[in-house]
Amino acid sequence: MKTIVHTRPGGPRHWVGNGFPVRSLFSYHDHAESMDPFLLLDYAGPASFQPTGSRRGVGVHPHRGIETVTIVYQGELAHRDTAGNGGEISAADVQWMTAGAGIAHEEYHSDRFARTGGTLEMVQLWVNLPARHKQAEPRYRAIVAGEIPTAMLPDSAGYVRVIAGEHDGHIGPARTHTPMIVWDIRLKAGCRTELTLPEGWGAGIATLGGPVLINDTAITREAEFTVLSREGTHITLEANNDATLLLLSGEPIDEPVVGHGPFVMNTTEEIHRALRDYQDGRFGQVNH
Ligand code: MN
Repeated sequence: MKTIVHTRPGGPRHWVGNGFPVRSLFSYHDHAESMDPFLLLDYAGPASFQPTGSRRGVGVHPHRGIETVTIVYQGELAHRDTAGNGGEISAADVQWMTAGAGIAHEEYHSDRFARTGGTLEMVQLWVNLPARHKQAEPRYRAIVAGEIPTAMLPDSAGYVRVIAGEHDGHIGPARTHTPMIVWDIRLKAGCRTELTLPEGWGAGIATLGGPVLINDTAITREAEFTVLSREGTHITLEANNDATLLLLSGEPIDEPVVGHGPFVMNTTEEIHRALRDYQDGRFGQVNH
């Protein structure tokens, strides 16, 4: 059994730009070791937006040394970056962006969603890159819902959308730089399930819709995050109401983590270089 290290409540809501009312579910500032190779998880919404003709979101900003993974549950986003990529991310889609050596991008509500208004619910996960891949060429992958395999849970308890890693013979479409699991789990009201994870990998569960009983021990509610031990392989989940969970587990990279804002590197010198390179315009331009 992977045992519960602790459960923490979501942080207070704060605005990222003018589009994303975000709660921090965990961050490497206090979970660098237990959640390695994951760096942080922000949960935006669910929040209701009125129709508008103006743009809501975050303007051009850089990243280096990491991957950003955006999972949209409700609403629709638009993305554009210095590698020339752009597009919409709709509900149930995932965007997996490798910043690697450096990328700058903007993240907004899509024009369509802004015009109609509605509920926005999404997460953004930051995945660390090992030192040997921190200077990787930037890469952008729009994973549409239809590419994500769905594994049914035994006894009709719900299903797992396998975004990364493998579950019950279903392999997620994300091409990761180190081995990891990212599962979007839906558990039906009154159901219980057991899942198996690799021995030696840390793991964490974000409860997005709950409550959910984990390992017959902890009742977790909306926006709570549960850190599990590296030791052991099994967990159990039980829900009274229909529940949505995001499960993360990965092989630890086990290297120094030095971060500053949108950059996460291995040394302070590399952070200073990232700041200089961005100020000198070496990340390029976002063209419209
Ligand atoms: Mn960003």
